[in-house]
Amino acid sequence: MTTKSSYRIASIPGDGIGPEVVSAAIQVVEKLAKTLGTFDINFDHIPWGTAHYKQTGSYVTGNALDTLRSYDASLFGAVGAPDVPDHISLWGLLLAIRGPLQLYANVRPVRTFPGTKCPLTTATEGIDWMLVRENSEGEYAGQGGRSHVGQQWEAATEVALFTRVGIERIMRFAFEMAQSRPRKLLTVVTKSNSMRNGMVLWDEVAASVAKDFPDVTWDKMLVDAMTVRMVAKPQSIDTIVGTNLHMDILSDLAAALAGSIGVAPSSNLDPTRKNPSLFEPVHGSAFDITGKGIANPVATFWSAAEMLIWLGEKDAAAKLMGCVERVCAAGILTPDLGGTSDTQGVVDAVCLEVEKLA
Ligand code: ATP
Ligand code: MG
Repeated sequence: MTTKSSYRIASIPGDGIGPEVVSAAIQVVEKLAKTLGTFDINFDHIPWGTAHYKQTGSYVTGNALDTLRSYDASLFGAVGAPDVPDHISLWGLLLAIRGPLQLYANVRPVRTFPGTKCPLTTATEGIDWMLVRENSEGEYAGQGGRSHVGQQWEAATEVALFTRVGIERIMRFAFEMAQSRPRKLLTVVTKSNSMRNGMVLWDEVAASVAKDFPDVTWDKMLVDAMTVRMVAKPQSIDTIVGTNLHMDILSDLAAALAGSIGVAPSSNLDPTRKNPSLFEPVHGSAFDITGKGIANPVATFWSAAEMLIWLGEKDAAAKLMGCVERVCAAGILTPDLGGTSDTQGVVDAVCLEVEKLA
């Protein structure tokens, strides 16, 4: 007899619409586990975020990394508030976790969803891309400083730190990702014409790793030209890999081109599995709609499905995504997708679909 797997998940709802979408996803995943009966899952609420920061002066409690290491994975909402500078909130929570936990692969599938309209006339069949973002170094390494603060000759440096090890591991991950997809197509994005150190190292490492993947067709592209290609020739793209900064920007563009940022998921993975991975929607705290009950929960459903895949529950994840797609295709959509449903309406509809899996 095989024993049923049981997972402990750290739920970190965070700020803004984070708590709304994370609670939505937990309802749906708990319903899925109960209905299928093939695995157990428990979510522990971790109250880190801006409210915590205002009360205690810190975004997290105690040794955040050790806390997260005691779980199988984390489901994260969003961090950021209008009255705290973004670089403080981001470094207080998310960036303080991703780097030290070596969650070096940020994976962002982008697909035109049933019920969403791809705004591109060049993509008649919608978009189906896989974006891989280097998540642990590069432009967001936090290196640099300021001198002569406040003076006319004030100067600031922001050092993009790249290491051969760091580039090689993300490149290998991206080639493997491309290899696992039907089209086996990879585009390596850099800016090696005007940045002559780190970006040239990226090009060199890409060429050397490519030798181990003769069945993957790959090319390289400057990031500025890539924005044009994403709009003008979307069908020529499948998997993309690039630096922390470049893919941060390209993934927002990709989400918008696919139809909405409200459906875009992301995984922060430690492919070596030494540390638990973290799953979160691409969108942020979206204070303009916080508390209105209309946040689109689909990006967090999809992030939770990616979490289930990572934990080994592929079948359950596929079933969950099937339910979500049926609900969207039936027109049960939040206002960002042109619908009239609220968050809970989408949750209830997905839960009803899940019940039918019994
Ligand atoms: P951050 O600073 O972390 O990027 P943000 O507050 O700027 O966060 P984004 O998440 O970038 O907000 O989203 C931009 C806009 O897109 C929001 O202001 C909101 O109107 C809309 N939006 C984002 N996520 C959702 C969602 N899940 N459902 C509906 N609309 C959303
Ligand atoms: Mg934003």
